[in-house]
Amino acid sequence: MRSLITRPRALAVMLAGAALTFSPLGGQATAQLPVDQLDDCFVPPASAAAKGGHGPDTRDVSATEQKAIEARTAQILKAKAARGIGVPQGALAAANVPVYFHVMRDAAGNGDVTDSQITQQMAVLNKTFAGQESSAASNTGFTFSLAGTFRYNNNNWHKDKQSSTYRKQTRKGGANALNIWLVDFSYLGIATFPWDYPRNPGIDGIRVHFDSLPGGSIANYNLGETATHEAGHWFGLYHTFQGGCTSTNDGVGDTPAQSSSTNGCPEGRDSCSLPGLDPIHNYMDYSYDSCYNQFTPGQSTRISDMWTAYRA
Ligand SMILES: [Zn+2]
Repeated sequence: MRSLITRPRALAVMLAGAALTFSPLGGQATAQLPVDQLDDCFVPPASAAAKGGHGPDTRDVSATEQKAIEARTAQILKAKAARGIGVPQGALAAANVPVYFHVMRDAAGNGDVTDSQITQQMAVLNKTFAGQESSAASNTGFTFSLAGTFRYNNNNWHKDKQSSTYRKQTRKGGANALNIWLVDFSYLGIATFPWDYPRNPGIDGIRVHFDSLPGGSIANYNLGETATHEAGHWFGLYHTFQGGCTSTNDGVGDTPAQSSSTNGCPEGRDSCSLPGLDPIHNYMDYSYDSCYNQFTPGQSTRISDMWTAYRA
């Protein structure tokens, strides 16, 4: 749920008129554009009012559902603790996560990434989840190992069409495996949440724009931190602007509330009267890749709980 539309480039808006998601017409129109022309479609960041544009399988979680998810998760953790599953209270879970890349190229081979880019992306995941980009960052305790890279040539899959079908056909591993599908769509990335895994395991994982990997062509978003952001959702984190200026907010105590997503890297942004400046350096905001540098201790705790409840 890191949207290109709300941020720098609004391909669907430019080509299809106004739609926040691809219409079939818009999809065909962009599919016919050579890759180098796509770069010409970059537009200045949209206003905060343009927020929205979630993909077909990415859903908003209302405050009511958010509460229900918290309650269910607490029940699962309690039941698991009673059976001796998980870490002792107060300790944090840690694991090495197997990562599978699925490179969805079109029939002509467009949309490929090099093995070196995948190696660099893995390094970014390990660096960011280890808290190595800032002294204020938390080490989540999670590491990542490349378990496999698969390449496909399919025009529909490349454009993220039939995504439920292609994910079910290609997904590898169990609940603990992070599957990353690299596609060409109007978003930077889209993710599934861990609490949805039991209901729909076949589509679990993250879809990421192939040009957001290190060395990719999307200006300001090509340091590989979109995958970090989407993996954050996959571990159960909400956006830091979830719920806007409310005390519930993202369910994490040490990420101050913010009214809306951040564009760029506006130091000192303070969009809510609640305590604290906006967490613009947090991986779960929408800031530039170069602006990102941290998960917080509270997010590490939430990741640990969600992992134990749904992925361990
Ligand atoms: Zn997101």
